[in-house]
Amino acid sequence: MTILDFDVVIAGGGMVGSALACALGREGFRVGLVESREPQRVWPQGEIDLRVSALSRASQNIMTNLGAWPRMAALHIYPYRRMEVWDAGSSGRISFDCARIGEPDLGHIVENRVTQLALWQEMEGIESIERFYPARAQDLDLKGHSLRLEDGRVLHAGLIVAADGRDSPIRGMAGIEAHGWSYDQHAVVATVTPAGDHCRTAWQRFLPTGPLAFLPVDDGRCSIVWSSSPEETARLSELEEIEFLRQLTKTSEEVLGEILAVGPRAVFPLRLQHALSYVLPGLALVGDAAHAIHPLAGQGVNLGLLDAATLAQCLVEGRNAGRQAGDIRDLRRYERSRKGNNIAMLAAMDTFKRLFSNHNPLLGLARGLGLNLADRIPLLNHCFMRQALGLEGERPPLAIRLRGMDL
Ligand SMILES: Cc1cc2nc3c(=O)[nH]c(=O)nc-3n(C[C@H](O)[C@H](O)[C@H](O)COP(=O)(O)OP(=O)(O)OC[C@H]3O[C@@H](n4cnc5c(N)ncnc54)[C@H](O)[C@@H]3O)c2cc1C
Repeated sequence: MTILDFDVVIAGGGMVGSALACALGREGFRVGLVESREPQRVWPQGEIDLRVSALSRASQNIMTNLGAWPRMAALHIYPYRRMEVWDAGSSGRISFDCARIGEPDLGHIVENRVTQLALWQEMEGIESIERFYPARAQDLDLKGHSLRLEDGRVLHAGLIVAADGRDSPIRGMAGIEAHGWSYDQHAVVATVTPAGDHCRTAWQRFLPTGPLAFLPVDDGRCSIVWSSSPEETARLSELEEIEFLRQLTKTSEEVLGEILAVGPRAVFPLRLQHALSYVLPGLALVGDAAHAIHPLAGQGVNLGLLDAATLAQCLVEGRNAGRQAGDIRDLRRYERSRKGNNIAMLAAMDTFKRLFSNHNPLLGLARGLGLNLADRIPLLNHCFMRQALGLEGERPPLAIRLRGMDL
């Protein structure tokens, strides 16, 4: 039996696990990263993947500090400068404009595979990181501080991190419960071409059935996230292309004119979920393994990257104080620092979802008033933008410090 020794072993090399590996590897920790799927390295020119994320300034700072942002920029990132949100059930409307808070943009739309690939390329230059892929983490032995892979190899470390996504097998093996509920909504995602100019603006219309978002990408195209009931999203995903385009044009109130073309469509079930504990002695959860959130405000991976940056910081501080990676004192500091913020964001998005996804006329009135007020009160409007950019509240140094790279 092959036993390999590390300071930290990370199960899951998606965006969050890879960011954590880079952050720790750069600090000289010996890291083993296990990923079951080999990341995509090439794709046809001009193709935009179905899975994109709106990355905040805090996430951009983390990627910049990890050296990955210029690689992402070379692969393709799409800044957006404004956001328009309106309610189908009232006259409520709110606009956000980066110029009002003196920022160059409100964030960037980035394909998930671009973020992951840039981090994997970065890892290639970090000697203290060893990657195992395609390899599946199969058994967790918390007392023995080890993770056994499907092929029989055993990875031993003071700290094992579950970055293995929403259904986290490692979280299950550790016996950590996750509470939450399935939303009565799924999301259809696709890349579409509207007739009108998207003006580097993210557009979101709240319907009683769920929000419809248009995220601006390249060549005038938009990535859409169309949330609705499971039955309706199944129907939409199977509609004839011409009929899908017609319904999308109508549902968007032609805000971008007629929708002329759509690429492949996929459906994702939406769920709110939160792990009761983020840590156990020798184990930590990060990213979707710890929390899953409705995509309506595009915060999932942004929270996950803050988890990664915070955990890395706690481990560095622990090491500086002479402690080994996995010491429960450092893990508890990580948990304390992230849990409150994550719960607040989960709760806020859940409230938004409930407030907008219903037909109650009184709530409609309240929504209309609330949105219009928030639109007109500059302090409130600016506060929303700074929150969404991740510029408010406690942040780990990786999410703040810039190494002088271009924004
Ligand atoms: C429709 C939709 C739109 C979204 N839009 C946004 C947005 O605009 N902005 C935003 O911030 N977030 C968004 N999100 C959320 C975001 O996609 C997730 O928060 C993010 O992908 C979580 O990253 P992660 O690395 O934690 O988990 P994942 O991306 O799920 O990665 C987990 C990795 O672990 C690997 N893995 C799993 N099990 C094992 C195992 N046993 N052994 C080895 N490897 C394993 C998997 O192969 C995978 O690569 C959206 C989500 C959805 C569904």
